[in-house]
Amino acid sequence: MTIFKPTRRQLLEAACLTPMLALPASAATNLLAPSRPQPAASHRFKVGQAQITVISDGNLNVPVAGLGVNADRAEVQKFLTDHALSASNNYAHTNHVLVEMGDIKLLVDVGSGDRFQDSAGRLVANMEAIGIDPADITHVFITHAHPDHVWGIRDDFDEPVFTEAEYIIGAGEYDWWMTNDRANMVEQSLQQFVVGAVNALSTEGLEWTVAQNNHEIAPGLRLIDTPGHTLGHMSLVVESDGQSLIALGDSMSHAYMSVEQPEWVNAIDMDKEATVTTRLHLLDMAATDGMAVLGYHFPFPGVGHIVSDKMGGYRFMPALWRWQDAG
Ligand SMILES: [Zn+2]
Repeated sequence: MTIFKPTRRQLLEAACLTPMLALPASAATNLLAPSRPQPAASHRFKVGQAQITVISDGNLNVPVAGLGVNADRAEVQKFLTDHALSASNNYAHTNHVLVEMGDIKLLVDVGSGDRFQDSAGRLVANMEAIGIDPADITHVFITHAHPDHVWGIRDDFDEPVFTEAEYIIGAGEYDWWMTNDRANMVEQSLQQFVVGAVNALSTEGLEWTVAQNNHEIAPGLRLIDTPGHTLGHMSLVVESDGQSLIALGDSMSHAYMSVEQPEWVNAIDMDKEATVTTRLHLLDMAATDGMAVLGYHFPFPGVGHIVSDKMGGYRFMPALWRWQDAG
């Protein structure tokens, strides 16, 4: 009997014709894993006059079972496999935005500190590695009060990490988490989130500004309501010299699924209907107006554009990583 031993070329050709012969997604993604830890993660670019630095807090590992909970499981698994993503673990990045404009140094969200997953909590170390002193931050904007966005607000002595900043959060977001006895009004799985949010928001020494839709932090820096993921979730719009960017927070939490299947919601999205309405509005706005988007959980550094595809849907196109301005 002859044993068929295909050459590498034959295998590659066969894989193109028959997707089933392609490498399983997990094998493909593992092949691209680093063998040693990476250096501090940050990325700089400009939006008009605004200098943007994306600084990572690390990553979160979340079971994919929480993604697309209103969709057919097999379809969700196929979507992940088709995108060469793990079919079990959602490796979610945590992209913090620092906007420097005039005298303003605005940081979006503060990470989870050492209170959540061990793979996160690197924000301050990554800031210091690129010469940014937490005491230089003038404004902190919290998109919403989930652990990965707000638990890093205080240090091990319960003192604010960003000592000189004005703290801003949506009025609806603040009120929801701070409602008396909220922990007893939510299901058990969310109780820790409530306790953590209340502890973070109540940190001594913080002064909160609660924002309404279109709150202007400074000319060119505006907050807009993007409810759904949480009820009072807000996002930051940066506008300068005809260019614009929206820091989405978690209004779209997956770079591919939230964009290509905006109607698939996640277990953690609090108001499912509002989540979808907000996403569709943001996708239309970003695609029509050419606004850049920056997703907190998108693959680092999480910035790019939304483009319409021929089927009437949308795609996320990551921005080109560049060494310097020109080209
Ligand atoms: Zn998040």
